[in-house]
Amino acid sequence: MGTPENLIPGSHVWVQDPELAWIDGQVQEIRGDEADILLTRTGEKVVSELCKLFPKDEDAPEEGLDDMTKLSYFHEPGVLHNLATRFTLNKIYTYTGNILIAINPFQRLDYLDDLATMEKYKGLNIGELSPHVFAIADGAYRAMIEDRRNNSILVSGESGAGKTETTKMIMRYLAFLGGHANAERSIEQQVLESNPVLEAFGNAKTVRNNNSSRFGKFMEIQFDNHGRISGAAIRTYLLERSRVCQISDPERNYHCFYHLCAAPTEEKERYKLGDPSSFHYLNQSNCYKLDNTDDHQEYLATRKAMSVVGITEEEQDSIFRIIAAILHLGNIEFTSQDDANESAEVKAGESKHHLETTTELLMCDREMLEDVLCRRLMITPEETIKKSLDPEGAAINRDGLAKTIYSRLFDWLVAKINVTIGQDPSSQFFIGVLDIYGFESFQNNSFEQFCINYTNEKLQQHFNHNIFKTEQEDYKKEDIDWSYVEFIDNQDVLELIEKKPGGIIALLDEACMFPKSTHETFSEKLFQSFKSHKRFFKPKKTRSDFTIVHYAGEVQYQSELFIDKNKDYIVPEHQELLSSSRCSFLAALFPPISEEAMKSSKFSSIGSRFKQQVQQLMEILNSTEPHYIRCIKPNDELRPHLFENVNVLQQLRSGGVLEAIQIKCAGYPTRKTFFEFLKRFAILAPEVLYKVSDEREATKRILEKLVLEGYQIGKTKVFLRAGHMAELDSLRLKL
Ligand code: ATP
Ligand code: MG
Repeated sequence: MGTPENLIPGSHVWVQDPELAWIDGQVQEIRGDEADILLTRTGEKVVSELCKLFPKDEDAPEEGLDDMTKLSYFHEPGVLHNLATRFTLNKIYTYTGNILIAINPFQRLDYLDDLATMEKYKGLNIGELSPHVFAIADGAYRAMIEDRRNNSILVSGESGAGKTETTKMIMRYLAFLGGHANAERSIEQQVLESNPVLEAFGNAKTVRNNNSSRFGKFMEIQFDNHGRISGAAIRTYLLERSRVCQISDPERNYHCFYHLCAAPTEEKERYKLGDPSSFHYLNQSNCYKLDNTDDHQEYLATRKAMSVVGITEEEQDSIFRIIAAILHLGNIEFTSQDDANESAEVKAGESKHHLETTTELLMCDREMLEDVLCRRLMITPEETIKKSLDPEGAAINRDGLAKTIYSRLFDWLVAKINVTIGQDPSSQFFIGVLDIYGFESFQNNSFEQFCINYTNEKLQQHFNHNIFKTEQEDYKKEDIDWSYVEFIDNQDVLELIEKKPGGIIALLDEACMFPKSTHETFSEKLFQSFKSHKRFFKPKKTRSDFTIVHYAGEVQYQSELFIDKNKDYIVPEHQELLSSSRCSFLAALFPPISEEAMKSSKFSSIGSRFKQQVQQLMEILNSTEPHYIRCIKPNDELRPHLFENVNVLQQLRSGGVLEAIQIKCAGYPTRKTFFEFLKRFAILAPEVLYKVSDEREATKRILEKLVLEGYQIGKTKVFLRAGHMAELDSLRLKL
């Protein structure tokens, strides 16, 4: 809290405000524990408790400070005000020590990422120029070359905050640093062009973002001994499958569907396509067009990018044919002739026509497709019977087929890009760039949010660990006097989710393997198991919801679809149909599985596989030197020039930024080994070093001579307060 004892009438202060979080004013009168405040903006008078006021720095530079650790009054309103001030001046980047905060401008700022700007940042130390993504990328690149170790840049933030745009800037900058002279189909060009391809098939318009990535991505960019890009590897996480068949207004399906519907006439005819509004998978929403984008142009651009990443014309043809087939498949409707409405068949008329077209495009057998859609094999210990589905079941089955095809196609694209770009077996080191969904808490939260938030817990722990723990450990090791700043450790939430056996993922797998499970029995099991867990509770007024207390807040999950969504198995009849396609591309997406494998892989769990992927990712990240970029969305309307305080504060909190700032400022943002320190600063007072051979003693003498205040000398390092380095460096420059 503030320092009320320093407040007097006339003091400038920050006062809490329900709408704007913090507003500024001036103390008029102090009466006991309370003060009258005159609000600057409105001239209104309010009364506030003294202990709820924070002092406002009237001497802060008008244009704000480019590093929060330089704030003279460090507190929440100060941080927020600094960000807001800079944002108004179109300064969207601000450091917090070595974390970069990036606020989405929602407008093109030309100077931001042009070639001249890249040239400017090349080879400069962080802090020498105004904060920038390029400075972070440059730092990672140089640390990699100099320390010969892997680095990673973790970009996080909520949907629409600007992660993907930031990631693209990082990749462009790395390509600029590590590129080759003749660039036409160079590796870096392929690395860059992989973006539009993955975006066409993995991004969609949502209410939060017109170009929302519906998958997570980690890209390792490999470098050779000369610091040139020599290979890359892309890993993707959890593509949102449900979007292929189900969207709600005003969202869209994956971009590629609309691109294809806007293809040149000849291609549209070849794929038997019409207006997007004629397809069920697209017309569940009234949104077909995106502002400022032309799907026809996008189609051509996607095709071109596909060529650059090595996807042949024939493969492209197959891919778009399959995309078209999915649209026709979605238009097949079912009916039932029998009284009990039990045996589905394809409706006459339009549906038959779409069935025909789907068959042609998928190059499979028509009877077989119809049979696969309407009937299901039931295997009991005694016999195998073919059972008719009811029309509703058939529609669900149809959607399952569409999702299966689409997700295999997406995986193929990722694999293909990986093969084309290729991994460099002799590469010495890499820079990993992570662009992954941020923390999500909606009205309705299902299995996807659960997985996403689990990932964020893992990343938060990684962040905590690096920022907080290493900081504290460093102090402890060095015997430095320091009052510990508390931080929230989230190990307990992680155990709740991932412990094996007994964690939520493990219990979900158990439920999936037990044929009689329902979402109710599953949540009942959770309630029993975590009755007294302080990160878990059963919300009031619901039967099967459960709430997890995440590091960024409570999230209430609806358990209804957890079991279904966790099961990852391909219906054997679907498999058979597709692997028998005369389209060799499609058939290859579904290589036949042996009977044995089929039996043993009857149930594979999406949750467990995802957990494994996340753990692998963490292992990689743990072996690298991390750099953090926290993206912030200044408002929910996606508008430029609008900065919503409450919204931003919530994001600073869920990104762990507030705590990080606190710990950095409370402590010593700069620490150097005596050797490093002397190498750099012995020159400032060589006379005091006469006949001193002990490095620690030498460091001490120099600092005493220079009359800095507040530094501490540890066992092997010297700890400097914010601003000290700048002071010392400027002395050096003056020599
Ligand atoms: P999601 O999690 O939904 O994928 P995201 O964090 O990746 O969201 P982006 O797609 O990167 O968000 O950004 C959303 C939109 O914000 C962009 O389409 C663009 O319009 C705008 N935007 C983001 N960063 C910038 C920037 N640096 N300059 C201009 N506009 C930007
Ligand atoms: Mg994105």
